[in-house]
Amino acid sequence: MKQNFVLTWKAKNNIIQGLSRNSSRLKRISDAFAFARDGRVLKGTLAVADLERLHDLLTELSGEMGFCIKGFKGERGEFMLHLEVTGVLPLVCQRCLNAVPFDLDVDSLLELVPEGAELSQDELEDDTRDFLPLASELDVAEFVEDEILLAMPVAPRHEECGLPGAADAGDRINPFATLSGLKGKPN
Ligand SMILES: [Zn+2]
Repeated sequence: MKQNFVLTWKAKNNIIQGLSRNSSRLKRISDAFAFARDGRVLKGTLAVADLERLHDLLTELSGEMGFCIKGFKGERGEFMLHLEVTGVLPLVCQRCLNAVPFDLDVDSLLELVPEGAELSQDELEDDTRDFLPLASELDVAEFVEDEILLAMPVAPRHEECGLPGAADAGDRINPFATLSGLKGKPN
């Protein structure tokens, strides 16, 4: 009977894993231009564990990020996406390598342009516009991941970092002081 229970639990777990894989694959906007034209909205969450390009920057891979994508048409009739992403990421402190919580707050406005379309010199030089070249399908996880990476601090660190050897070094025994004390003594 116990054996049966274990098998059932494993089977159930496999089904759950399969479903979560499928759901992250399903997070696609098949036609982003139509999405913008129709003023549609997509809200959801992405598991940090699925955002693989962030992994090297984090101390742990738990939790999830909330996102909201709003499509709309701009003043010139351009197709726009407004992306908001929120969540807390445990970044690696560049001094002590411990977690430094980063309150992510992405708020990006992107103008969709057909893939391969040539932008004019004026458009390229306009700092107020961000272009997103796209055939038609938008991979939501990849899009959100791109924008999170752009919003990351270059060198995250604690404001008051508890790195050994920094502020609190006075209380610790310095092994090099002991070594230098031995240096002058004959063998
Ligand atoms: Zn630190």
